[in-house]
Amino acid sequence: MATERTYIMVKPDGVERGLVGEIIKRFENKGFQLIALELKTPDQEHLEKHYADLSSKPFFPGLIKYMKSGPVVAMVWKGKGVVKAGRVLLGETNPLASLPGTIRGDFALDVGRNIAHGSDSVENAEKEIALWFPKGVVHHDRVIEKLIYE
Ligand code: UDP
Ligand code: MG
Repeated sequence: MATERTYIMVKPDGVERGLVGEIIKRFENKGFQLIALELKTPDQEHLEKHYADLSSKPFFPGLIKYMKSGPVVAMVWKGKGVVKAGRVLLGETNPLASLPGTIRGDFALDVGRNIAHGSDSVENAEKEIALWFPKGVVHHDRVIEKLIYE
């Protein structure tokens, strides 16, 4: 059974624009399993930890301000290849470079308003899951597993 997990987050602009259901739908349609979900209002320190690797970038203060502008939807998704596949569903960091059919390609224009986040490696996914869901994540084995995996 696939145990890979990723951290997917609908950013404040995605929440405000009513795109939470649309984003969840795309991950569900693909066959991934939602194993954690919470609407959260993270503080500055939490967001700085989440984006720690970008702290020296010139866009960092603007990124933190954007991420603090409203609630986010924090999610953990599980399934075969979900880290890389999640990034494919999201599209490129720059929405204008994202193909139609991807979340950012279909719904966004600016890199600083790109609707959703997805972990970029299995290792970072586990770090982000620990940061956003410190109490841990439990899940059940789906009845439909045999219809998704051969
Ligand atoms: N970002 C930005 N300006 C840039 C690059 C990135 O505002 O020039 C923001 C953008 O919202 C992006 C986030 O910083 O999603 C994290 O950047 P990263 O390179 O990790 O892109 P991602 O993994 O989200 O595609
Ligand atoms: Mg990233």
